[in-house]
Amino acid sequence: MPAKNLGYQTRCQICGARPLETILALGHQPIVQEYLTRATRHQPEVTYPLNLVRCPKCGLLQLDYIVDPRLVFPKHYPYRTGLTNMLIRNFRELANCLIKKYRLRAKDLVVDIGSNDGTLLQGFRAKGIRVLGIEPTDAAQDANQNGIPTIQSYLNAAAVNRARKKYGPARVVTATNVFAHILDVPELMRNIKKLLAPNGVFVSESQYLADIFTKREFDTIYHEHLRFYALKPLVKLFRRHGMSLVDAERIAAAGGSIRVFAAWGRHPLSSRAKKLIAAEEQLGLYRAKTLQEWAGQIKRAKQELLALLLRCKQEGARIAGVGSPARANTLLGYTHLDSDLLDYTVEKAGSPKIGLFTPGSHLPVVAEEKLLADQPEYALILSWHIGPELMKILRAKGYRGQFIMPLPQPRIITKR
Ligand SMILES: [Zn+2]
Repeated sequence: MPAKNLGYQTRCQICGARPLETILALGHQPIVQEYLTRATRHQPEVTYPLNLVRCPKCGLLQLDYIVDPRLVFPKHYPYRTGLTNMLIRNFRELANCLIKKYRLRAKDLVVDIGSNDGTLLQGFRAKGIRVLGIEPTDAAQDANQNGIPTIQSYLNAAAVNRARKKYGPARVVTATNVFAHILDVPELMRNIKKLLAPNGVFVSESQYLADIFTKREFDTIYHEHLRFYALKPLVKLFRRHGMSLVDAERIAAAGGSIRVFAAWGRHPLSSRAKKLIAAEEQLGLYRAKTLQEWAGQIKRAKQELLALLLRCKQEGARIAGVGSPARANTLLGYTHLDSDLLDYTVEKAGSPKIGLFTPGSHLPVVAEEKLLADQPEYALILSWHIGPELMKILRAKGYRGQFIMPLPQPRIITKR
């Protein structure tokens, strides 16, 4: 991965326009996956600016500071797709949808960029379709062990050439939750086009700005996510690189995502994609004033959450966190929640984060059993995007305290 164009950005990542307008400043934050160990807890911790800014020309929302991807996605990156039930369901559905839509057969090749442990590709392989993953982290080794051929590499010319040589052109190239993560957009588009057959289709899933906006999911903003997509800037992006966005649909994954389909050459936009763009305009996603008002609501939500937790603390209550997804670290960091307010946060058994400390806020991450044994008066749902599912599970397991939802409106969930 070339270490170019890192650091502070003054121009739009897609169209190059400037100056970029600040929408929401989240302070300096550490890398969300840089969990501390008992030893590194005693070492300095590096933080980077985290600002959501807007392009004056194409309207793209993006970060204005790019951290070296080798630091953001280190080889030991702890995340495994196969540990998240919701993602497993979504990927099964995506594989089946693509197999049907494009009548994929055994001779066809599906390449997944940022394939992690191969969870998505398993859905294709189960139907006998040829698959190949490209994945920079050690998750690639898990994938290979599970029989999903995977090149352990960033998406670069060398990896693409290797893939083309050994496997030929791909009928489908997928990129789920990575299309907004790669800095060099022209190089990314060159590589995708090189992987694709002339009749191939590129399918990507990214968190959708309309969901981030309506559900106030500012916690999806962290250094992994360089761009926050609505459809209009994407239409321009594909056109600049000789492709067309042909279709788009909203999906529930990752707190609300947009699945887009793109092909070589010039093609018209589907009517459902046109409807989505009209809805985006209706929401005000392309109006700076509306976005500034949204930022104001987030600042108020932060104050309300802090006030609510302080009230609980003053009553002498114990508060524990539930979940430690990457995004929670933006929430904890921006809201300045630390171990004075939250005793610890819990992950379900098997999570590689157990025994570590959250970056920035330094909360101990412990196994879920501790919450059930301690029965703290309040449990703050840090994985609030899957809040209802989590609360149901914890109730069934015997947690008797009250739940607090941090967003979109901080509130105590009355006992059920
Ligand atoms: Zn732009």
